[in-house]
Amino acid sequence: SKPIPPAEGATPALAQWFVAKAAHPDALIFFRMGDFFEMLFGDAEIAAGALDIALSYRGEHRGEKVALCGVPAHAVESYLAKLIRQGFRVAICDQTETPEEQKRRKAPTIRREVVRIVTPGTVTEDSLLEASRPAWLLALAPAEDRLGAAWLDVTTGAFGTEGLAAADLPALLARLEPAEILAPEDLARSPALLMLAERTAHVSPPRDGTRRLAEAYGVSTLEGFGAFTPEEVAAAAMAVDYVRLTQAGALPRLAPPVPSGGRGALQMDGATRRSLEILRSERGDPRHSLLGAVNRTVTAAGARELAARLAAPLAEAAPIAARHDAVDFLLAVQGVRSTLRDTLKGAPDMARALARLSLDRFAPRDLGAIRDGLARAEGMAAALDAVVAAPPVPPLVAAARAALVPADGPRAELARALADPLPARLEDGGLVAAGYDGELDALRRLRDGAREAIAALQMDLAQAWGVASLKIRHHQQFGFLAEVPAAAGEKLLREGAKDGPHAPVHRQTMANAMRFTCTALAELDRRVAEAGEQAAKRERMVAQHLRRLCLAAAPAIAAAAAAMAELDVHAAAAELAADGTWCRPDVTDRADFAVVAGRHPVVEAALARARGPAFVPNDCDLSAGRRLCLLTGPNMAGKSTFLRQNALLVILAQAGLFVPAERARLGLTDRLFSRVGAADDIAGGRSTFMVEMAETAAILNQATSRSLVVLDEVGRGTATWDGLAIAWSVLEALHDRIRCRTIFATHFHELTALAGKLPDLAPAHMQVREWRGEVVFEHRVGPGAAEKSWGVHVARLAGVPRPVLTRAQEVLKALEARARGLDPLSDELPLFARPAAPPPAEAPAANPALAALAEIDADSLSPREALDAIYRLKSLL
Ligand code: ADP
Repeated sequence: SKPIPPAEGATPALAQWFVAKAAHPDALIFFRMGDFFEMLFGDAEIAAGALDIALSYRGEHRGEKVALCGVPAHAVESYLAKLIRQGFRVAICDQTETPEEQKRRKAPTIRREVVRIVTPGTVTEDSLLEASRPAWLLALAPAEDRLGAAWLDVTTGAFGTEGLAAADLPALLARLEPAEILAPEDLARSPALLMLAERTAHVSPPRDGTRRLAEAYGVSTLEGFGAFTPEEVAAAAMAVDYVRLTQAGALPRLAPPVPSGGRGALQMDGATRRSLEILRSERGDPRHSLLGAVNRTVTAAGARELAARLAAPLAEAAPIAARHDAVDFLLAVQGVRSTLRDTLKGAPDMARALARLSLDRFAPRDLGAIRDGLARAEGMAAALDAVVAAPPVPPLVAAARAALVPADGPRAELARALADPLPARLEDGGLVAAGYDGELDALRRLRDGAREAIAALQMDLAQAWGVASLKIRHHQQFGFLAEVPAAAGEKLLREGAKDGPHAPVHRQTMANAMRFTCTALAELDRRVAEAGEQAAKRERMVAQHLRRLCLAAAPAIAAAAAAMAELDVHAAAAELAADGTWCRPDVTDRADFAVVAGRHPVVEAALARARGPAFVPNDCDLSAGRRLCLLTGPNMAGKSTFLRQNALLVILAQAGLFVPAERARLGLTDRLFSRVGAADDIAGGRSTFMVEMAETAAILNQATSRSLVVLDEVGRGTATWDGLAIAWSVLEALHDRIRCRTIFATHFHELTALAGKLPDLAPAHMQVREWRGEVVFEHRVGPGAAEKSWGVHVARLAGVPRPVLTRAQEVLKALEARARGLDPLSDELPLFARPAAPPPAEAPAANPALAALAEIDADSLSPREALDAIYRLKSLL
């Protein structure tokens, strides 16, 4: 950006701009001028381009014209959204006094101050947020080869921390997908963060993190919150300080930070998440993702909670079983479940409303959200209480039930206080219901009474001035004025000055009307304005009172909101399972893995949408003795679908959902690795093979005996011999050294030779058959290796010329012979021997016998017809 010009010689208003810019040099300054926010100097040039609005010049500063562009204040949010999405930070420099206050101070210009900085990770307006995704602000504090990480969501107050190895940063970034990152400059330049530079602010950890954090929460020690490492505390303090800075000193309501304390979640790296398309597809579409396929929640808060659970499934058996108990329960009490869901539908987002209230940046609807949200919560509690003869209520449901109705929540008070319907903005007035506040009622009566008095005065003046058509109207600038037609106005002017409360005083002449006032009207005007102003002031006071009432109960309201989201998630999971095609997985502490009739929820849904063939369920048994499944089969046979499906079952089960299968016994998985699908790293500039090997290395270095690895076509990115050798040795390492559960898909049939050598390897293949000359994919997994390669068949179907196919068959035979242990380089095999004479390069259709043969439908021929056909064909040769 352009250098900021020196401030000397600035007008008083411009001087305020310079103060703001000096304090926030890396932000665009939105400078309030009346009904507009204006950008000046270099900011104007940047903003005009980024927002696609007109750039103009006005006035001079030190002999140069001042560049300027502006946006209307009432529409500022949409412009902010545009800038935030492009990675800009914006400092809002607003007017912080009324013109009256300025007059009283006798100041040359109205006071303006930076009231907040808008950044991607600290916005609270609904229009700037995605309803169904958390907006994490992630702070990172390095300490040698470790990192403290703290992430908070100012829109809900959620706050977590974790200590991790520096090498695990990419996985954390993939899990949280932070909206904004805070990191010291060195760390920000590391490869993991370089790609996210736009979203990263350079911030250093404070030295006195513990004290700052304790202060923010008003506690003397952090011990009550749990055990944190010093790096975690430093990162948490960074995040809190940054939020305070962006909110100009105010701190939103934040839950105490929750340390993960190594309890940890199912670990998945970025490549695994991309390959499994958990929250969005590889193309970035959230609909064709696991979340998209299984999300039956009915609230935005529920959708956020479900997304968080799928992004970070649990890794311990007991809490997983607790979630399954809740789903089981809601599955059994179907009537209660549908009441809960009906009550949740359209429930307001209390967590986000609370955040705006705590920052004093709220609209009437935020108070309404608390009122209506708590009413819904009460409805849900009543529905749960109605469960009598039923399975015992599981602990998670009981805890949610208890949180739904805060003991002394503000619901009753809000119900009495708030008008219905509510105005859109506080300034519009009418937030408080009549009868709630005596003083406000009195002021409103005065204001409205004065209005009646004006109507009476209009009749009096019409008579006194002898103008029947006289109208008293309100004008933005002049207040109430009496308007008469031009001719009548001329007459009043000619009659000259008079005395008395009704004597006309000229104010304005327009084309065909004139406006007058008089002492009586001016007096009434003042009374109306005063009463209106006082009523508005009183209303603001009442609104603040209600806001404080909500904040006093904030932890309880947040807990009620969390309970609603939790019940939404469990009820949604039960809804998925309601038709009986999903089952409760048995998650054990052993190295089990036995799935009966499992399905891929996303592919299944896509097939159903397209009204295609039904999804074919498949078993998968990776129990002891058959830990490693070696899967062969041609392209398009369904290998990747099978691989992904089994990984997704683990995610669903450990996230606490049911799974699409008849039965599933799944031993806890600590780390999940999936390498299926495109591995190109175009942005990173690495070749497919390089990426593939880097990812394979990550698996071999990190997988444990409790991990699940699903791998597709290792070694496809290089020459056959290389690739085969690598695939072979990777397979051996997984089998002998790591001893994890693995599904390994390959097109190297040679690998099946390993079956005899590795005792825990179980070969399987995708079943394919030929029908009327076409390859039919059964999508069914059978035991043993594929009998033959179907690639040549597929090639034929695709129209590859016959001589090429014939040659391919020869080579194939050679390769198969080699797999049986023969030396592929020996002279008896035709693999490296060139064919004696090149076969004729004619197209198959040119031979009339072949053309006729192609015409024959073998399945419909009688024996007699078949014989005839053979004679005919011979005659064509
Ligand atoms: P591969 O990895 O062997 O090339 P895919 O797993 O990509 O094959 O599957 C190819 C297509 O086959 C999928 O897009 C899907 O439409 C279909 N398919 C795969 N598995 C099944 C199944 N179990 N039931 C029905 N259709 C399937």
